[in-house]
Amino acid sequence: MINKLIVALLPYLPKNFVWIFSKRYVAGKEVKDAINVTRKLNNQHIKATMDLLGEFQTRAEKIEYYKQEYIRLIEESVNNKLDNSFSVKPTMFGLLIDKDLCYKTIRDIVAKAASHGRFVRIDMEDTQCTDMEIDLYKILLNEFPHHVGLVLQAYLKRTLDDLKDLLAFDAGRGLINIRICKGIYNEPAEMAFKSREEINRNFLIDLEYMFRNNIYAAIATHDKKLVEGAYRLMDEHKMKQDRFEFQMLYGVTPELRKSIVDKGYAMRVYVPYGKDWFNYCTRRLKENPGMAGLIIRAIFIRG
Ligand SMILES: Cc1cc2nc3c(=O)[nH]c(=O)nc-3n(C[C@H](O)[C@H](O)[C@H](O)COP(=O)(O)OP(=O)(O)OC[C@H]3O[C@@H](n4cnc5c(N)ncnc54)[C@H](O)[C@@H]3O)c2cc1C
Repeated sequence: MINKLIVALLPYLPKNFVWIFSKRYVAGKEVKDAINVTRKLNNQHIKATMDLLGEFQTRAEKIEYYKQEYIRLIEESVNNKLDNSFSVKPTMFGLLIDKDLCYKTIRDIVAKAASHGRFVRIDMEDTQCTDMEIDLYKILLNEFPHHVGLVLQAYLKRTLDDLKDLLAFDAGRGLINIRICKGIYNEPAEMAFKSREEINRNFLIDLEYMFRNNIYAAIATHDKKLVEGAYRLMDEHKMKQDRFEFQMLYGVTPELRKSIVDKGYAMRVYVPYGKDWFNYCTRRLKENPGMAGLIIRAIFIRG
């Protein structure tokens, strides 16, 4: 309750103040910050997926600016010989105002990454974007079969059907690569499971379908129960290590992350950076059960 109240107040607080307890979730505001954090993770045998923050853009100049930033990020990452992929949010490239411009812009980014043997994953946004983001994935998959992936959300009732549809589209090539996560947006009950139990049950149903059908699974969760469920399914399906990986967000549950890495499983951390950190951090703060405590501590630390 108090967490909800504080989240509602966040837009009214000075940004410098919100930054104090947000900065644990982002590498920093500049490319060099993302590079430094990724290098540190790589030194701990953890891969990264770098994400430039910003979403729901409507201005062509801004869309071009973000594209150039991604191109620069890819070049910097290659020059620094880092082990990372990239994540993109289609609304950053105008998905909701000009679908063709968005598809063309993301294609340029994927082409640049693929030319260096790098991988780009299309993040999944709210349900007004689901069909368009799946279509975009299918188009790019035909052109860059080994360098593009998608995210699906276990809270959506449609997700198992989407997996079946993608499997049919793949026609036995074994190219489908999905990050499965719970889902972060506030969706209506007709479309989305609402209780933790239902979402977790669906997550494991989706994951088992992926394991059974040779869909590469990026298991994105900090929920211990789901990590244990994934271990169980891996044993049951005798999964090969090169058909799945775990993924976590930067700054969240480092102990659980270490326990997975110590078992020898592949781990990739989502490393967001950029000047547009506010919306992303607000979503993370909402999910943090200790948020109220964090903010109260920040108030006192500030004096
Ligand atoms: C790599 C990655 C990529 C993602 N990409 C997308 C995407 O494209 N689209 C999308 O809709 N969602 C995405 N998400 C977010 C996801 O949908 C969930 O909202 C988020 O991961 C929280 O769900 P959870 O499985 O960790 O379970 P939860 O039940 O939310 O969390 C489990 C436990 O983890 C800890 N925890 C979780 N979040 C925090 C936090 N912020 N601060 C401190 N502790 C925390 C708590 O101990 C909590 O009890 C992504 C998540 C990850 C890990």
